[in-house]
Amino acid sequence: MFFSFINLWCNKNLVDTQYLLWKILEKYSKDFQYTTDPFSKETEIVFLNTCSFVSSWRDEMFETIEKLKKRNKKICIIWCWVQYFEYLAIKNNISDEETEKWENFKNDKDISFLSWKEVSNFTPELIKKPNNTFCNDFVRPESARAYTNIDSWYEYIKIAEGCNNHCSFCIIPQIRWPQKSLPKEAIINEAKRLIKEWTKEIILLAQDTTRYGIDLYKSPQLFELLEELDNLKWDFKYRVLYMYPDILTKKHLEKLTTLKKFIPYFDLPLQHSSPKILKSMWRFYDHKMTLELLNFIKDNFEEYYIRTNFIVGFPWETQEDFDDLISFIKQDYFNNIALFEYHDEKLSESSKLPNKVDDKTVRERFLIAKKLVDKLLKDKEKNRKNKEYTGTISDIYLTKNNTYELTIRPTINCPEIDNEDKVSLENVLESYDWEELDIWSRVKYINA
Ligand code: SF4
Repeated sequence: MFFSFINLWCNKNLVDTQYLLWKILEKYSKDFQYTTDPFSKETEIVFLNTCSFVSSWRDEMFETIEKLKKRNKKICIIWCWVQYFEYLAIKNNISDEETEKWENFKNDKDISFLSWKEVSNFTPELIKKPNNTFCNDFVRPESARAYTNIDSWYEYIKIAEGCNNHCSFCIIPQIRWPQKSLPKEAIINEAKRLIKEWTKEIILLAQDTTRYGIDLYKSPQLFELLEELDNLKWDFKYRVLYMYPDILTKKHLEKLTTLKKFIPYFDLPLQHSSPKILKSMWRFYDHKMTLELLNFIKDNFEEYYIRTNFIVGFPWETQEDFDDLISFIKQDYFNNIALFEYHDEKLSESSKLPNKVDDKTVRERFLIAKKLVDKLLKDKEKNRKNKEYTGTISDIYLTKNNTYELTIRPTINCPEIDNEDKVSLENVLESYDWEELDIWSRVKYINA
């Protein structure tokens, strides 16, 4: 049987998908052969995984399923989605268009579901089992994965799963339970294996990386882990995604300035600036402290990248709160900002809050914020012109004028998230390997 996979939206989920791929290839490579294109004629079964905590992402999953069904593919949906519908939506008696579709899928003989335990203990029979025998259990895998980014020189390590924070707009702790960290030793061993074999960049992931280790070691251990990682002797870099700002102290940042392999990429999902809105989001950090952190980064790292996201139109957001957010954005600390319009997720605590902002106002505020963000980021891009960078080639193509152009990801930018540069071949200054200048080569270039 030829199989393929689709992983939508979430790189934490990609790690889960990679575990499943390995389980299949490790033991059942005679029964299953991998193909890269899930829509190709030969592909018979497609394993699907997506983040299920935002309704628009669930919609995309429904659309993907429909597309695959039209091509007569068998579909196997894995963990996060199964968890959302079986253990949250249905158990909480949510009855809507989505749950109705889900119930229909349960009777579709070409669609099957895998819970987490079934992902970890995969056997081909599980694809054929009836869709009413779920198990709500979690096994933290520490075994190998089928690494899917080999060609790109980077790979993810998920250092913890689950979250204890319970931000009021977020249902992740309900889907993924309390935080379970991977022991430091297991992370370092996996890092060693990756670096020795091919990886030049490791991306550490968790729902909240700053709280890594609390469940295992009774205190946060991210910075101790980074120190160990930094001491590995090989030539590689690493970055950390999703640092929750409340326990990120100046002392931690000072430590980061001493680490040699750390990429000063700060992914700080701040969500808002107004103290009142942050409190109703159940985010208890102080805006003054956030500003101190941002200023520390600006003043102490020669090159840095700060990424954040904000939710516009959260319940109780008055014009004054929104103006507060706008004036914070105008202070121009960020290299990349993702904006979200607030909407009620049925199972979130924020959906029960009074004083909702009406849809029209949410939209208007979102568009005002977006216009500002677009302008600030465009100006930042202009300032990057005619300067020298190091980066990794992700594409090479021939233009209409018969000249070669390259797409290059600057080293500080995160793969799959941030912008890449378009560079003509004559602006490549130096390659680490001119002989084999190709996709994934590292080069120095001018961003003309
Ligand atoms: S930190 Fe908050 S937003 Fe992030 S996963 Fe945990 S509860 Fe959700």
